[in-house]
Amino acid sequence: MSHKDSPIRRRESTRIYVGNVPIGNGAPIAVQSMTNTRTTDVASTVAQIKSLERVGVDIVRVSIPTMDAAEAFKSIKQQVNVPLIADIHFDYRIALKVAEYGVDCLRINPGNIGNENRIRAVVDCARDKNIPIRIGVNSGSLEKDIQERYGEPTPQAIVESAMRHVDILDRFNFDQFKVSVKASDVFTAIEAYRLLAKQIKQPLHLGITEAGGARSGSIKSAIGLGMLLSEGIGDTLRVSLAADPTEEVKVGFDILKSLRIRSRGINFIACPTCSRQEFDVIGTVNELERRLEDIIIPMDVSIIGCVVNGPGEALASTMGVAGGHNKSGFYEDGIRVDRIDNDSMIDVLEEKIRSKANLLKNR
Ligand code: SF4
Repeated sequence: MSHKDSPIRRRESTRIYVGNVPIGNGAPIAVQSMTNTRTTDVASTVAQIKSLERVGVDIVRVSIPTMDAAEAFKSIKQQVNVPLIADIHFDYRIALKVAEYGVDCLRINPGNIGNENRIRAVVDCARDKNIPIRIGVNSGSLEKDIQERYGEPTPQAIVESAMRHVDILDRFNFDQFKVSVKASDVFTAIEAYRLLAKQIKQPLHLGITEAGGARSGSIKSAIGLGMLLSEGIGDTLRVSLAADPTEEVKVGFDILKSLRIRSRGINFIACPTCSRQEFDVIGTVNELERRLEDIIIPMDVSIIGCVVNGPGEALASTMGVAGGHNKSGFYEDGIRVDRIDNDSMIDVLEEKIRSKANLLKNR
């Protein structure tokens, strides 16, 4: 195994397709986000989905609380490329409507739809149109009897709730589904996913619900999802942040990148800086991250402030700089090829990284 390969062995699962995106059975772990516009505001929702597409989202979930939202969904679906999941609670007619309008996956809990006829209508429709279902259980909304029996949302309580919905789909002989068992507490979520992973063979959708704001939520998600992913659990994920949804996608990819599960865009390696630094490392990395967000080709770029660690990191990266007095050493594919003026470092690096990305893309 090279040091670039991930040592993680994924849990075996069945596979479903959300539109053209495969989930499970070894497929790349898909990164999701969710719109937070009013779904009936078609223009804003389409604009947000397009901004999510630009940062590489694989699947977008849209909340469909009313029949008006279902009508808006029809027009939204026609204007975007990425597969869409409709988030529906309780109203089976909304599920049937968005299925008619080309939805790629239904997030609906069969146990909450109502009587058998309604469940049958949704499941038959999903089967006919090849639409998978996501069962999504949250620690904050467990069934009353489960809440009373367990007293609090323990991992066992969350999984029992999920298995009720799974059992219904089993009874209808429908296996094209994935399941999430989210909790805002990291330990509860991890344990719930571990338990569930042993009980079903379907793909798992990971998330720490209501994780928090951009910084704290990212860290919480990185720890929770990171632990699960490192055990091979998880086939698709959403990082829930009280922030712009594009942040959720970037953090999702950063988590996958850190575990070397999936690469997308530039993986910057930067030193924390100290008084030895020969140029402004922090300013350079932040500015390059901002300017190069559109690059999707995976590559490692090391930006290191001096020769203590600079050459070593640069040799192991696609490109790298090792800070020097006035000029810094520039490395490409493990070879020192140039020296860059520290004053023009950002512009020169941007240009070099862009041309390298083009070269790799056309290979
Ligand atoms: Fe300081 Fe150099 Fe280490 Fe960066 S690589 S933290 S500049 S000693």
